[in-house]
Amino acid sequence: MQFRIGQGYDVHRLVEGRELWLCGVKIPHSLGLLGHSDADVAIHALCDALLGALALGDIGTHFPDNDPEFKDIDSKILLVRVVELIGRHGWEVGNVDVTIMAQRPKLAPHIATMRQRLAGILGVGVDCVSVKATTTEHLGFEGREEGISATAVCLLGSSR
Ligand code: MG
Repeated sequence: MQFRIGQGYDVHRLVEGRELWLCGVKIPHSLGLLGHSDADVAIHALCDALLGALALGDIGTHFPDNDPEFKDIDSKILLVRVVELIGRHGWEVGNVDVTIMAQRPKLAPHIATMRQRLAGILGVGVDCVSVKATTTEHLGFEGREEGISATAVCLLGSSR
């Protein structure tokens, strides 16, 4: 068995008039994340972790933000494509661990749904998908509610 580790990081700006999507779940909030896609910052960090594990570049390489195909796209579709790509390279997901940095809204009520949604796409059990959320104690851009950031790590396995 061979293993690969990957990590990803992403930031999106919080603005009025946009929906807030995190880990493929629509979160009720007065602000949403700005981006070319649905700006699901957590899925973007996870995609970068999965791509990084195989040194396959980053999400911007595979899904350019000037391509109309990806305008307002559901980031779950991007994650599906990344999972297909790593499958074609002969690898499968072992586990992932995602951390979301957001001052508001409270994300605890949504964590279970987020884990289920990601697990379904990744093709692993919910016990292999960790999603955590933290405030930054009002410090930095997340603390000022100017944006939300996310980090992700993953482990991939291959029996080849
Ligand atoms: Mg992004």
